Amino acid sequence: MGTVKRTGPPRASDPRVVVLVAGGPAGTRPRVHPADEPLLLADDLAAVRGDGCFETLLVTGGKAAKPDRHLDRLARSAAALDLTGPDARAWREGIELAAREWGAASEGMLRLVLSRGPERGGDETAYITVAPVTAQAEKARAEGIAVTALSRGFPADLAESAPWMLPGSKTLSYAANMAALRHARAGGFDDVIYLSSEGEVLEGPRSTVVIARSGELLSPPTEVGILEGTTLGALAELAPSEGVAVRRERLLLTDLLTADAVWMLSSVTLAARVHRIDSVVLPDAAAAPDVAGMVDRAVGRA
Ligand code: PLP
Repeated sequence: MGTVKRTGPPRASDPRVVVLVAGGPAGTRPRVHPADEPLLLADDLAAVRGDGCFETLLVTGGKAAKPDRHLDRLARSAAALDLTGPDARAWREGIELAAREWGAASEGMLRLVLSRGPERGGDETAYITVAPVTAQAEKARAEGIAVTALSRGFPADLAESAPWMLPGSKTLSYAANMAALRHARAGGFDDVIYLSSEGEVLEGPRSTVVIARSGELLSPPTEVGILEGTTLGALAELAPSEGVAVRRERLLLTDLLTADAVWMLSSVTLAARVHRIDSVVLPDAAAAPDVAGMVDRAVGRA
């Protein structure tokens, strides 16, 4: 595929696309908004409370990958937050417009954002942005990552004991996740694997954990209070046809340290092979399933 590789950190001059789907002066049809012009009012609850939800999709070959999986999850997050949001038809129209505007020359990171809207009152705000895939994501795909295991500080039964914490919803309140990533980077790591307060493996701040054991792929179930990954879902749909079973199983850190291989899956980075967890270097087992190749095929990239 003729994609343009990025080097270095994001720049203000990088290409960007913004599509307003609902709210503000949008009218009823999604329309392109000038990417350098402000979009939200200063008191938008997304900005002042992180009160909303979002999705991140890969744009590849001028098309968004697996939009229906993301729209289903966005609808679940919106329902958990008592938000209505545009209907799936409006989102789909917006996604197609944004992906078309972005084009096929390079891969993009497309975000769907739904906010409760201005604090002063008014409609929910819904918009889409597309920006370049970061150099960091491309490096993680190509070279793999070193991760640190950090406590999330919550028990694995959070969904039952404190559903108002919204586990399993992709809310805009990602400040703690970003802080965990900065903490990891300060220690020389690329990413984080969260553990529950009892030590169960949960997920990454932006990804799903998958391990290979005895030819099978295993990933923690959502009942431990994690997001249902769309990349894992796409992989689980495809893998059996390639002779690989994908199962959900509760995992401990020792399961990761003794696995044949470990990956972090997400929509834009896709499959990042974990080569070190804290001080433990993981084996480079040639026998592990080709998860990166399967994910590419599962999301329609290969
Ligand atoms: N878990 C969390 C907390 C995430 O933010 C993400 C990324 O969106 C994922 C898992 C992986 O989900 P997906 O594969 O749909 O990108």
